[in-house]
Amino acid sequence: MDDKLIKIAYLYEDLMNTYGDSGDVKILKFLLKKEGYDTQVDNISLGDEFDTDDYDFVFFGGGQDFEQTVVAKDLPRHKETLEKYINDKNPMLCICGGYQLLGDYYKTNSGVTIKGLGILPLHTIFKSDKRMIGDTRYMTEWGEVKAFENHSGQTYFDDTDKLHPFGEMIEGYGNNPQDKVEGLRYRNLIGSYSHGPLLKNINVANAIIKQILERHEKRLAK
Ligand code: GLN
Repeated sequence: MDDKLIKIAYLYEDLMNTYGDSGDVKILKFLLKKEGYDTQVDNISLGDEFDTDDYDFVFFGGGQDFEQTVVAKDLPRHKETLEKYINDKNPMLCICGGYQLLGDYYKTNSGVTIKGLGILPLHTIFKSDKRMIGDTRYMTEWGEVKAFENHSGQTYFDDTDKLHPFGEMIEGYGNNPQDKVEGLRYRNLIGSYSHGPLLKNINVANAIIKQILERHEKRLAK
């Protein structure tokens, strides 16, 4: 194993990449280069084999409802490896559609229920004609974040002892119009509605870089 090569799994990069989410991976690549690491990004797409043991970071971007229905059919093959990776406190970032697909289900505005992986006790539903679109600002444990959201799904936590939000809203909607919170922090997984991309917020990007390098050390020690 190359000790200066960071491996990133980009889940369904060809299908789940709305509103510049691939920028998150580009920012990580840039910051890792400054730390002296090269980065290999593998697109894990329909039908591909995937073992999280081979990776230092997993990224799952946003997508339109149609692409989510396609991805949701392929995704259950990876439930076991992803669940173990997440529960072992390894770093993962899921944006919007990717975040929704880690939960139990997403009921869309056309009445279709897309089954999620069911790793996180949360669900997403379309409730009214309201599309949550615009600038967002919220406070996280790493400081303030500024981003952009564009989603029709409203996300609700089903186990609030286990799941905690990523941030407290200052501006915009976040998970849904009622709870005034943004995204999810669960172990070293972040789920978020933030595009923009999210990691232009260097405070969050640096925190994730730290987690990636810790994960890399763990993999090297194996
Ligand atoms: N299709 C989902 C929704 O509208 C997710 C959108 C996205 O990933 N930007 O809620």
